[in-house]
Amino acid sequence: MPTYEFKCIKCGKTFSLQMSFSEFDLKKAIACPYCKSEDIKRVFSNFTAVTSRKS
Ligand SMILES: [Zn+2]
Repeated sequence: MPTYEFKCIKCGKTFSLQMSFSEFDLKKAIACPYCKSEDIKRVFSNFTAVTSRKS
């Protein structure tokens, strides 16, 4: 199961969540585990870089 990393805009903390592609596809609200804010953004760490672009 892939791990997605997120950063909370509100408190600035980063956290990672494991979820399946189908779960992620549902775009359900993801809340910061620290402050419960849903104002978060996805961050891409080097080991989870999944880009479909081919050079
Ligand atoms: Zn937060």
